[in-house]
This record gives sequence, C-alpha cells and structure tokens, in this order.
Amino acid sequence: MKVAIVGAGVMGRLAALKLIGAQHRVTLFEAQSFDHPQGAATISAGMISPLSEAVHAPPEVVRLGLQSHNLWPDALSQLRELDPEHHPVFFQQHGTVAISFSEEQDCLLCLYAKMHQLLPEHHSQIRMLYNQEVLNLEPDLERFETAVFLKNEGQICNRQFLAASTRAIRQHAQVIEHWPLEGNGSVLQKQYDWVIDCRGAGAVKASTYAETGAQALHSVRGEAIRVRTKRVHFTRPVRIIQQRFHVYVVPKPDNIFVVGTTDLGDRGTRSVTVRSSLDLLSAIYCLHPGFADAEILEVMGTHRAFYSDNRPKITQNGNIICVNGLSRQGWLLGPALVEDIFKRVTC
Ligand SMILES: Cc1cc2nc3c(=O)[nH]c(=O)nc-3n(C[C@H](O)[C@H](O)[C@H](O)COP(=O)(O)OP(=O)(O)OC[C@H]3O[C@@H](n4cnc5c(N)ncnc54)[C@H](O)[C@@H]3O)c2cc1C
Repeated sequence: MKVAIVGAGVMGRLAALKLIGAQHRVTLFEAQSFDHPQGAATISAGMISPLSEAVHAPPEVVRLGLQSHNLWPDALSQLRELDPEHHPVFFQQHGTVAISFSEEQDCLLCLYAKMHQLLPEHHSQIRMLYNQEVLNLEPDLERFETAVFLKNEGQICNRQFLAASTRAIRQHAQVIEHWPLEGNGSVLQKQYDWVIDCRGAGAVKASTYAETGAQALHSVRGEAIRVRTKRVHFTRPVRIIQQRFHVYVVPKPDNIFVVGTTDLGDRGTRSVTVRSSLDLLSAIYCLHPGFADAEILEVMGTHRAFYSDNRPKITQNGNIICVNGLSRQGWLLGPALVEDIFKRVTC
C-alpha cells in the first residue's frame, strides 16, 4: 500500500512507524523541518497519564489512554528495530505523584475524592500516601506529609522519541519537508492509496464542520520550561495541585525537568509571558529549594489543537483519514489512535 502522511508530529510519526513496520510504502510530508521539529511534539512533557486526565477529559480519553499505556512498550521496541542506531528511548511506567502545599491541602483531598468518584474501577491505582510512604516513593518530597499516588501512569522522553523516529523514518520511508499542505489533502488523493492527515494545530484553518461531525477544531496555547539541576531527584512526574492552576514537573534524562501547567492556555500569542513563567518557576522553587540554582534551558510555547467537545477524532472521507484534536494528550492517546488508523488502512 502507498500511504501519504501529512504532518510529522506525534501522530504522523507513530502512524508512519506502524505502517513501515507492516511493509507499507510511506511518504511523510512536513511543513517545517523534519530533522529539527519545533512544534507541540518537541515542547511537550511526554506524560502518559490516563488517570490524571479523568478530571478534565471525557471517559473516552481515559479508556484510550489506558489502552495506549499498554501499547507503548511494543511501539517502542518496534521503533528500536527500525532505528538504524537501535537506541532505546527513555520510557517509564512508575506512576505519578500529586501533592499540594500545606495551605492548600483541601485541593489534594478534593482531587483524591474526585478521582475516586470518576474512576470507580481504578480505586486500587489511586492511593493516598502519608509521611514515610511519601518519602519512600520520592525522597526529595520531604516537605510534604501527604501525596496522592497514581499507579497506572508513565512518561516518555519525547526528544529521544523524535530523534529515534527521525532516523528510522529517514531510513525506511520518503520524507518531503518544508511542504505545507493547503486545503484538505485532495491534491495527494490520486497518487496514494491512503492520505493520513496529522497536521495538528496546522489543520485548524482547513477543518470543516462537515468533516468533524459538527465540531469545530480550535487551537490553544501551551507552554513549558526546561530546566537542569543535579540538586533535585524525582523518579516520576510530580503534579502540584493548586487552587489557581496545576503545575507538573517531569524528570527527563540528564538531570532535565520539564515544567508546565495544564491550565494556563489561552488563545492569544505564541510568546510566553513573564507572569506564566513566574507562576511555573515559583511553583517548582516552593516544591524543592534545589530548583533555585537550576539552569533554565528553554522557555517555549506553541499551539495544540482540540475539538469543542474535548474528544480526539478520526474522520474519513474516501481515502483521506484525518486524525486530530489530541489537545494535551498526544503521547497519551497516540498508540491507541494509530491502531484505529491501521485497521482502516489494512482492512
Ligand atoms: C506545553 C505542552 C505540553 C504537553 N504535554 C503533553 C504531555 O505531557 N502528554 C501528552 O500526551 N501530550 C502533551 N502535549 C500535547 C501533545 O504535544 C499534542 O497532543 C501532540 O503533539 C499532538 O500531536 P499531533 O501529531 O496531532 O500534532 P503535532 O504534534 O502538533 O504535529 C503536527 C505536525 O504537522 C505539521 N504541519 C502543520 N501544518 C502542516 C501542513 N499544512 N502541511 C504539512 N505539515 C503540517 C507540523 O509542523 C507538525 O510537525 C503537550 C503539548 C504542549 C504544547
């Protein structure tokens, strides 16, 4: 089968790898640089957190997220085979820990109660920890007497995934970069058996209500700061649950931490503001004083796409398949959505 994939972000790369692995001929079209991506896939934190998302997202996202959580190990071993350098990609399934500062303990209790209510089948995965239990899990959370531990969650090093998938796709497929698709993909329709549109926020202008079941595609700004310090050690992502906004701190290889928030999005500019940077950096400084001397490596913002009902969608018009609306859950949902696309293409 000859397949054109448009957009080399999370979805485009995962779809390309799956199809290459099944011996299909893939051409990947990308508007920007393929080797040095700068979009949401690069900036993002790479958390695979199906339970945490239950608080904001519909149950379908939790279900697909749990499915992806199980599919990631196979997707990564396939990537390692296809990568000419056979580098493993940093990936862990050690869960997530959530804390609140002492004056906002109500927020943590509220989160715990809400998750128990929303996820009745997963109570054993959501535990309240006290004192020594917190320290046993994350010794650097010594300032916190209580924490919520979410077991069935993980994270991936998105930068390592992008580097490995760049090598693998360059080796096994054709890449056409600096090629922005205009319109809805019909220009490729005749030359390929299938066209898979994975343009993320780049498709906002092209999307039509008819294609998406009367749901409009929008984009929202998200931002993250990368810092490096040897003075703080976390084994797993830490979420700071606060009244105003929630902050996450995700440990990556080489003493790097990605810091971001699930709530600061707006539909405005691409730039990161002083206020949002201060909000994020103050939160991590209060989390652990070791962050005071951390080196700031990057402060980046970009747009991610979502539908008005907050659900990801796969729509099909003839041989054009569009997948979009992954919002802040591309790593969480990617492998499960790729299974659906793969079935459509190969059935
Ligand atoms: C700050 C931040 C933190 C995040 N953290 C997480 C997280 O922890 N966990 C998680 O699961 N998700 C996270 N996300 C969300 C995740 O990054 C997105 O859901 C994911 O990148 C969406 O994947 P996609 O393939 O649909 O789009 P993208 O990854 O944005 O890829 C789209 C690609 O299409 C290309 N393109 C655009 N227009 C065109 C065109 N006209 N022609 C050709 N190519 C085009 C773009 O250049 C890009 O390469 C985060 C996002 C942000 C911004």
